[in-house]
Amino acid sequence: MGIIRDTLRDKVADGLSACIGCRECLRACPVAPPGLRIADLNHWTAGDAPLAASAPIPTPVSPAPAATEVVAVADAAISSPAPPAAMVARLAEECFQCGMCVPVCPSGLERDAMVLWLKSRLTPRPAEYDASLRRRGPAQTVGEKVGVTVHNLLHRGRLGSLSRHVDKRSLQPADTLFFFGCNIFSTTGMGEKILAIADYLKCRYEVLGGLSSCCGWSSYLSGDLDGAGEMMSHLAGRIAKVAPKEVITPGSECYAALSRIAAVHRTPFTPVTVASWLRRNLHRFPLRHFPGTMTFHDACHSSRKLGEGEEPRRILRQLGALVEMRRFGDDAPCCGHHQFGVNPAQVEALRADRLAMARDAGAARMVVECVRCQESFAPGAEAAQVEVLSLVDLVYDLLPSGDRPQARPVHFAPPVQKGDQIPIEGM
Ligand code: SF4
Ligand code: SF4
Repeated sequence: MGIIRDTLRDKVADGLSACIGCRECLRACPVAPPGLRIADLNHWTAGDAPLAASAPIPTPVSPAPAATEVVAVADAAISSPAPPAAMVARLAEECFQCGMCVPVCPSGLERDAMVLWLKSRLTPRPAEYDASLRRRGPAQTVGEKVGVTVHNLLHRGRLGSLSRHVDKRSLQPADTLFFFGCNIFSTTGMGEKILAIADYLKCRYEVLGGLSSCCGWSSYLSGDLDGAGEMMSHLAGRIAKVAPKEVITPGSECYAALSRIAAVHRTPFTPVTVASWLRRNLHRFPLRHFPGTMTFHDACHSSRKLGEGEEPRRILRQLGALVEMRRFGDDAPCCGHHQFGVNPAQVEALRADRLAMARDAGAARMVVECVRCQESFAPGAEAAQVEVLSLVDLVYDLLPSGDRPQARPVHFAPPVQKGDQIPIEGM
């Protein structure tokens, strides 16, 4: 899948040639270093040269300066003084690919893709990226394979009935495939609840999960374009063994990867978000209204970038009172998961802001769709006095008690500290 690198390079070249230098993207970006000039950013974005990882730069969580500089890109690139590579590299390291810079661009450009191109050239890559993404995908050394085996054994007890699906070799043909990938290890218990709901609906399905069947989108978002391509090719082969009509996933970034696989590999399946699947079947549950007011947090890759934000809202309107907080734009932060722990204090502040928005909107509950959003926001929920739960949690609670498996305790990790591995797989 060198096509991923080629496609991104072409998109970046087109974007740079159309950029009018207005700086709106940097103003909307929650992590842009103050003082970073668009001319310098564009100058460094053009090209293939490695980008040295930055020296520490204090980056307070504050909007970039308000001054607007409109410059022709060509002029900016030519007149740029010695480029402040450290600031550009810092943006590349801390960018979590939320896409908040995209809807504000008057030229319709994708600054997130341009920064991803910079990420792909960071040399060396931030150690936090590789610590978070280790052991994922099919390309494993012998030592990594041993590590994956040990990891899977350690989590077998916690996963219960889900554990039989972890990295299993034999896959049976089925019209419906639930794809959990790495999220099968999620501490939310979402996978087990999804299968309980599927059993209630008398759905016949196959399940694909485990580190070796990672969708690769997190690697893509870290700038490991070639590694991501290998993972997507591998996953496409695994999906082909099931030959499903639809592949349902609770991961926002998994949905993005599946959409790409379905398009590029031309495998005849339809990627489906868990929200769409639940909404389609909602009439089959004993419906009731949940007390209190709920708001919905959009996941970056399914809602913000792929426009799948209405299905979850249709469910919430049927199950209770929905109030909206800020959805898109420069003050609707994402969960920040894909910063991979590079600047935990910065990300924790953004998460606290988002939870405060939910509370200020009058919501007692902030509902999320993506399993990673739930893991990211739940640790701060108590302090913010806002309950964080998923659409799956809500629908699972509709099941008659006899159809619900014994609930397992859910463990949310405390906020990530600098140097910690992201606790996504509970490793
Ligand atoms: S994707 Fe988000 S973090 Fe990255 S440059 Fe755009 S606004 Fe900033
Ligand atoms: S908002 Fe768009 S046009 Fe303006 S500087 Fe950013 S990418 Fe260029």
